[in-house]
Amino acid sequence: MKLVEITAPDFDVDLDIRYASENNFTGTPVYGRSACFLNEEAADKLQAAIRLADHAGFRFLLFDGFRPVEAVQALWDHTPNPDYLSRPGSGSPHSRGAAIDLTLLDRDGTPLDMGTEFDAMTPRSHHGVTDISSDAQRNRALLLGIMSAAGWDFYMNEWWHYQLFRPRRYPTLSDQAAGTRMMSEKTDAGE
Ligand SMILES: [Zn+2]
Repeated sequence: MKLVEITAPDFDVDLDIRYASENNFTGTPVYGRSACFLNEEAADKLQAAIRLADHAGFRFLLFDGFRPVEAVQALWDHTPNPDYLSRPGSGSPHSRGAAIDLTLLDRDGTPLDMGTEFDAMTPRSHHGVTDISSDAQRNRALLLGIMSAAGWDFYMNEWWHYQLFRPRRYPTLSDQAAGTRMMSEKTDAGE
């Protein structure tokens, strides 16, 4: 299965790949390469979402796309919470290149207020809650509407997570199988 790298100029998005930095809930990089990959269907549906967002005056900031099975295992080992993370054995949609974590930016490049940060593992990150501001409620509805119209399914517990319908049509991939060099970048440098 071929993965598509999500980069400018083909994809007009900003990247803040959290698991390649210390700015994630584990406090340490989970993979070595700050890059975003999706399978071909997901890449096409992201393009559709980019067009809709642009027409409405917004752009996307991407936090994570393809997540090699090794990275899913590392996240689970740190925080084995099935409400917010996939059990390694069950196969995350992220390991199928079929899921994306993202938010909306306004024309100035400022992220919209979504009520919680990315990866906030609290009930307030769930869709349908009313204990966030009305602005945040509206912003989440905007993101949900754009992504739904572009053909994406949502996940009830995480406002930032979208995935293809029936993601199990696609296999889970290791870093080596995907050829993304996300886990191996550091050791390839000669360590
Ligand atoms: Zn996700």
